[in-house]
Amino acid sequence: MASLSFHGVIKRYPQGKGTLQVVHGIDAGIRDGEFVAIVGPSGCGKSTLLRMVAGLEDISDGEIRIGERVVNALEPAERDIAMVFQNYALYPHMSVFDNMAYGLKLRKMPRPEIQARVGKAASILELSALLDRKPGQLSGGQRQRVAMGRALARQPQLFLFDEPLSNLDAKLRVEMRAEIKRLHLASGITSVYVTHDQVEAMTLGSRIAVMKGGVVQQLGTPDDIYNRPANTYVATFIGSPTMNLLRGAATGGQFGIQGAALNLAAPASVNEVLLGVRPEHLVMQDRAPWRGRVSVVEPTGPDTYVMVDTAAGSVTLRTDAQTRVQPGDAVGLAVEPANAHWFDASSENRLA
Ligand code: ADP
Ligand code: MG
Repeated sequence: MASLSFHGVIKRYPQGKGTLQVVHGIDAGIRDGEFVAIVGPSGCGKSTLLRMVAGLEDISDGEIRIGERVVNALEPAERDIAMVFQNYALYPHMSVFDNMAYGLKLRKMPRPEIQARVGKAASILELSALLDRKPGQLSGGQRQRVAMGRALARQPQLFLFDEPLSNLDAKLRVEMRAEIKRLHLASGITSVYVTHDQVEAMTLGSRIAVMKGGVVQQLGTPDDIYNRPANTYVATFIGSPTMNLLRGAATGGQFGIQGAALNLAAPASVNEVLLGVRPEHLVMQDRAPWRGRVSVVEPTGPDTYVMVDTAAGSVTLRTDAQTRVQPGDAVGLAVEPANAHWFDASSENRLA
């Protein structure tokens, strides 16, 4: 097992006569045994970053270290990592056993040890009864398990996952998510998990890196990311329904929106601020001065989402399933000051 660190890591791809920079100087440290999820929209550079760790892409500038070792110039095979991809990448003509054993055979591992390792990985992943089958005779979930088993049998210093669950249906994804978490608890192997799915990132990561446009916006625990987002991008990317953002003026430490009778103590340092409120922190209060009219009511089962049009803009509330409001109802809204997030209106960064 090992730590992993990024030092000013940059990636440029050749484009026409010049280059296109897609990763813009990543600095981050991942501790030995940690599980870090990298989350961001499609095209933000997640796979590129992971592939640079694996040695499948050159590093244009900066340094990647596994443990104390700078790996920039090392071949993939010399890095002691195992990678699990979205498309499984199994050999169709080989049995499950041979797929899992292949990397070990290449390393000239003695047969009894290969059998022991594959046997153990298969038993952890409940594949023992399927070892003679070909990938074509397996379900999508079982194939993904084989891909994970192959990585596990390697007993690498580092696990890299690139959207491994994206090809599975929603129910199976939830099951496999728990499986990956158990696997990490059991193996303790340092893991980096790339996904575009914020729920996967939140549930799996002991820390989460939120990426956008080749830049890490914030690296923190799920609690940091959710409760102390570094900027409006992180604030609105994580959480569903998304955080409400309202623009207003802060004068003399008091935040207000003209015509909305919304008054809260605000950071005194700036004039224009954005108030962020999570849907679960916006509550209906009969006599609150901030008024609005319900436009849409969406039951989801455990919660009901209520959209309200106000003079400050349209907002979304997460209420319990018993809520009785209907479209057209006039309601008052309130926010506990402790649940207000404040952002600078121009930089969109969090205000202390
Ligand atoms: P993600 O995995 O977050 O969806 P990628 O790392 O695959 O994003 O891609 C990041 C950016 O780099 C995208 O704009 C993509 O088009 C570009 N890119 C990826 N691979 C190449 C390549 N081989 N040549 C040129 N551009 C590439
Ligand atoms: Mg990708």
